[in-house]
Amino acid sequence: MDLGDLHLPNASPAPEFVASPAGSPRIGPHVAKAQRDVVALGIAIAAIIMFVGAGGRVLPQIVQSWFGGAQAPDAALANALLLNIALIIFGWRRYRDLTREVGERRRAEQQAFVLALTDPLTGCLNRRSVGPATDELLLTAQSSDRVVAFLLFDLDNFKAINDLNGHVAGDALLNAAALRVRNVLPAGSILARLGGDEFAAVTVFEPGRPEQVDRLADRLLAEVAKPMAHDGLTLETTISIGIASSDKTRAGDGRIDAQALLHNADIAMYHAKNQGRNCHYWFEPEMANELRFRSELETGIRRGLTRGEFVPFYEQQIDLETGELVGFEMLARWQSPALGLVSPDIFIPIAEEIGVIAEMSEQLIAAALRDAATWDPKLTLSVNISAIQLRDPWFAQRILKLLVEANFPASRLEIEITESCLHENIGVVRSLITSLKNQGVAISLDDFGTGYSSLAQLSSLQFDRIKIDRSFVSSINASKDASTIVKSITSLGEGMNLPITAEGIESREVLDELRTMGKFKGQGYLYGRPCDAQTVKTMLAEKGLLGHERTTLLDLKPGAPVDAPKWSGTHG
Ligand code: C2E
Ligand code: CA
Ligand code: CA
Repeated sequence: MDLGDLHLPNASPAPEFVASPAGSPRIGPHVAKAQRDVVALGIAIAAIIMFVGAGGRVLPQIVQSWFGGAQAPDAALANALLLNIALIIFGWRRYRDLTREVGERRRAEQQAFVLALTDPLTGCLNRRSVGPATDELLLTAQSSDRVVAFLLFDLDNFKAINDLNGHVAGDALLNAAALRVRNVLPAGSILARLGGDEFAAVTVFEPGRPEQVDRLADRLLAEVAKPMAHDGLTLETTISIGIASSDKTRAGDGRIDAQALLHNADIAMYHAKNQGRNCHYWFEPEMANELRFRSELETGIRRGLTRGEFVPFYEQQIDLETGELVGFEMLARWQSPALGLVSPDIFIPIAEEIGVIAEMSEQLIAAALRDAATWDPKLTLSVNISAIQLRDPWFAQRILKLLVEANFPASRLEIEITESCLHENIGVVRSLITSLKNQGVAISLDDFGTGYSSLAQLSSLQFDRIKIDRSFVSSINASKDASTIVKSITSLGEGMNLPITAEGIESREVLDELRTMGKFKGQGYLYGRPCDAQTVKTMLAEKGLLGHERTTLLDLKPGAPVDAPKWSGTHG
């Protein structure tokens, strides 16, 4: 494995990355200082002239008197000569000190100048200086008939790496990524760190030859994706790149400038992130519409949260052996006034990104607990939890608070954690699972088979159940591989004494095939699509499975037993 060395000294900025931006403050001449230099030098020169004048008369007298001449040297002239010598020495020393002082000050100012324009961590240009440097490159490119490509990129999973390995490792990763990019960029290019994990690389290419930039982007992707060693850790990251070119970018007033390039590259980078990351995209005007739609979605989600537009839907969970209904999985839906019924695959990732997932999830779970409290007490409720919620150390407490508020027994609640969450922070997940289990909440591992969890992880986390991902189940009788996978997950579950739920049962054939393999709980479109609370209620009423409504406190006859929430016990 090629492990780049992360212990990098702070590379001092290479001159080509610190193109001196137009209009930026240059190091000023130290006028006052220089005047004092001149005065000191003037005194020394005057003293030398006087020395020559006075010395010309008095020195012969001194020499004659040494060789026994009768005439003694003129005392006043000799004193003047000595004074001259002292002045010359004084003037010269003063001049030398001042020159040194000025040199030091110049160096300090130069350093302050560099610091103001560069990023101290990576030595790249910073957000302030990249604009003027790009504008300068645009001018040079125009005069030589070339095109400027502005590549904006950031590290795909930087926050997680920082959270997991600490800021020192995060800094080392940023430094190493910057160095790798710098090594690949053609001479004369600009590299800037705009803040956090966001960088810009600006380079020139020949008109009509965008493949030159494609090749560069591919190399950047490959270089940064190589594993990096830091302090005994192996860190890995990827980047997503958005590219804007000066021949296709115009600001509002028709000009091309760094600001317009940055704006378009930003939109293209956002597109690259949405397309699965670790890739590059050139800006296209349609992407701006996509971004507008996305920002409307964000606003809609925030508004929908305050207006109660997120509602729980429910999917039946069946005991495949007996065909009996055993519970429901709650699946979120957004009843958007503008878009109609929206799937969680659309709004959950956005809610995660804009930081409202916990609030949304708690609203949904509270509503689901209220609904489920009216069902027969033997029916369980499963809820899905996002990886982001698992990062909250108070998550278990929040769930317990919701249970208490809804007066709902913990033993009827099951929390589904997707397998991919386990890679985030296994320590936190473990303590969270333990505290939830201690309260009687069951935990199942969702989408099993898609996230490469190890056997060791499975046994150390004490799940109550695993759910085989629907991608395997729904193709069980069409694909031999899928069937083999389901079989091996089944025997794994049996070996570890873990009950299994098969998701995505769409047909009778799949159901029959599953039943030959072992004991399962199951769910899928064969039993009906997920439906709203009222539909569930009607269905349960028909089956005689509405239970709890008559035991609300208001309905209780004096002396009737109250169903207290059970805070312990295992899940059935
Ligand atoms: P999931 O947990 O794997 O949920 C099952 C998904 O498969 C649901 O999609 C369900 O409608 C769909 N499904 C069920 N049976 C079948 C079937 O037989 N065939 C096919 N093709 N699909 C079937 P949905 O409701 O769109 O949910 C998608 C995902 O969104 C869920 O996947 C879950 O990961 C996530 N999600 C849903 N609600 C929440 C929530 O409240 N919080 C969080 N964090 N995630 C949620
Ligand atoms: Ca699920
Ligand atoms: Ca699932």
